Amino acid sequence: MSHTYDDSNIFAMILRGEIPKSTVIETDNSLAFRDINPQAPVHVLLIPKGKYVTIDDFAANASAEETHDFWATFASIIEREGLREKGFRVISNAGDHGLQEVPHFHLHILGGEVLGPILAR
Ligand code: 5GP
Repeated sequence: MSHTYDDSNIFAMILRGEIPKSTVIETDNSLAFRDINPQAPVHVLLIPKGKYVTIDDFAANASAEETHDFWATFASIIEREGLREKGFRVISNAGDHGLQEVPHFHLHILGGEVLGPILAR
């Protein structure tokens, strides 16, 4: 799978401020916002601001600063959205088999109710 970044993807447009978003947290290197089509009472998308296509691209190529900022922001989301006590689920779709729609790495952070089986196929 190619890690070539497409600047026209919708999260790149969100990062450039070209389309509206519902911000949860923004830092120097990361942005969290609400999914436009929520699949649970809490459905937050967490993205790095850097141009990473998939989770493995980010894992292999992000700087220590970007990586630290990303996971610190993740911890803040769990705290602020009240997900720690009851739990939550994190999903990152990658590539064709993962049915990734938007080719900018993102975590789906889901919670607020019992989420059901991990996969429906
Ligand atoms: P993927 O299939 O790439 O893992 O998920 C992409 C997610 O982005 C979907 O859950 C979809 O609802 C969400 N999404 C697509 N376009 C927009 C948008 O313009 N704004 C927001 N907030 N979410 C979007």
